[in-house]
Amino acid sequence: MKCVKSGNFSRGELQRFGNIELNPSAGVLNYGQGLFEGLKAYRKEDGKILLFRPEENALRMIEGAERMCMPSPTVEQFVEAVKATVLANKRWVPPSGKGSLYIRPLLMGSGAVLGLAPAPEYTFLIYVSPVGNYFKEGVAPIHLIVEHELHRATPGGTGGVKTIGNYAAVLKAQSVAKAKGFSDVLYLDCVHKKYLEEVSSCNIFVVKGNVISTPAIKGTILPGITRKSIIDVARSEGFQVEERSVTIHELLDADEVFCTGTAVVVSPVGSITYMGKRVSFGEDGVGTVSKQLYNVLTRLQMGLIEDKMNWTMELS
Ligand code: PMP
Repeated sequence: MKCVKSGNFSRGELQRFGNIELNPSAGVLNYGQGLFEGLKAYRKEDGKILLFRPEENALRMIEGAERMCMPSPTVEQFVEAVKATVLANKRWVPPSGKGSLYIRPLLMGSGAVLGLAPAPEYTFLIYVSPVGNYFKEGVAPIHLIVEHELHRATPGGTGGVKTIGNYAAVLKAQSVAKAKGFSDVLYLDCVHKKYLEEVSSCNIFVVKGNVISTPAIKGTILPGITRKSIIDVARSEGFQVEERSVTIHELLDADEVFCTGTAVVVSPVGSITYMGKRVSFGEDGVGTVSKQLYNVLTRLQMGLIEDKMNWTMELS
């Protein structure tokens, strides 16, 4: 059964970046009724700007909105709003190869609601920021610690959608891990505590020979757009890709491990620390498969190779 109220997202306007006003009893502030998306705009060598699969972000927001009892913009409204925001901020898209413009669409219950219920009004906004590499290591290997006490998602929860509360749930484990010198945290399933889930802000892949495995989408991990793209890229590069339950022990025995996400792109994993034991991958931690997939994906995103999949959208 649906719980979504109808919404009107047709009257968009561009505003200078700044604070916004919210009622103290706004649904988003009190009950976490908020969703976001993340995508990037890249500058090609000829100066033109490319978006990467913005319709996929729109579809994920629509699915998430349904779970969070929120109305959402249509795919067309979402993509038009992203295009308008990027074009208005063209000068902030870094030169080709020097980074990208991160785009953050945000949908929230902005109407006032005191008792627990979906908010009566909603706001959709987009802000942007130029970005470089997500991890301070750049494309160098990252170092993960496996968390077995705290979980980011439970079956039947909201782990499969990009709602703000999922990120509140990871702040503690991630902060502790960073203070200990790790790049991020790898979560396991909360029932058996042995199947891989994902990292705080990216999906995980395990390579063994010619087979690349990644946890299947079952409602507790985010269906990453980079994940989906890398699965297609890997298959077209001749790898066998399996979406299934992957155990922590398979990961510890892998040839190489990498993470995928809009922010992290394809980040090789140099080491995993599990139950106090550190397992390293490869000589320098940057496996050949991760490097190969990183190269294909980033060249595609920057318009350096032919876009046979029709994934990029050029802005004029
Ligand atoms: N998992 C989580 C929890 C994330 O926040 C992200 C980033 N959106 C991802 C996976 C990767 O998703 P995408 O490839 O769409 O950026």
